[in-house]
Amino acid sequence: MVATAWSLSIPRSVLQGILRLADDGERELETGGILLGHEDEPASTTRVTTAGDPGPAAVRQPRFFSRDLQHSQQLADMAWRLDHSQWIGEWHTHPHGQPVPSRIDHHSYLRHVRDPELGFARFVSLLVAIGPQRRTLVAAWITEPNGTSPAKLDVTDS
Ligand SMILES: [Zn+2]
Repeated sequence: MVATAWSLSIPRSVLQGILRLADDGERELETGGILLGHEDEPASTTRVTTAGDPGPAAVRQPRFFSRDLQHSQQLADMAWRLDHSQWIGEWHTHPHGQPVPSRIDHHSYLRHVRDPELGFARFVSLLVAIGPQRRTLVAAWITEPNGTSPAKLDVTDS
């Protein structure tokens, strides 16, 4: 594995919003949403500004999640108008596992970075695992055309 020293920087308030959505009373079902923000290539950092909610048409199952595409597009349009945030990745929960991308997740992320129409240089992901006693584990990942590696999660107070 190539040691990509890439960081995912996220404001504490945005992470808290994700954790609230992850524990919404149906935490046995996967949930998630898009991540919007800015890529800072010289600093090897992706800065998250907004985390989307799943949306009314999302498909939520114990081991599968598919976000509401139309809802995500509306969130992306709003974020772009607000501060030129772009679609930079996604977050989702693993109610029955580790905060590690599954084989399906990995292939889905690779499809994103390899699709020239989407124009991703890389795709970041935040995985939230909710274990026994509601012990929550969060991990950041980065997918580049050659594979998926762990990213450093940097929670900021701004
Ligand atoms: Zn997954």
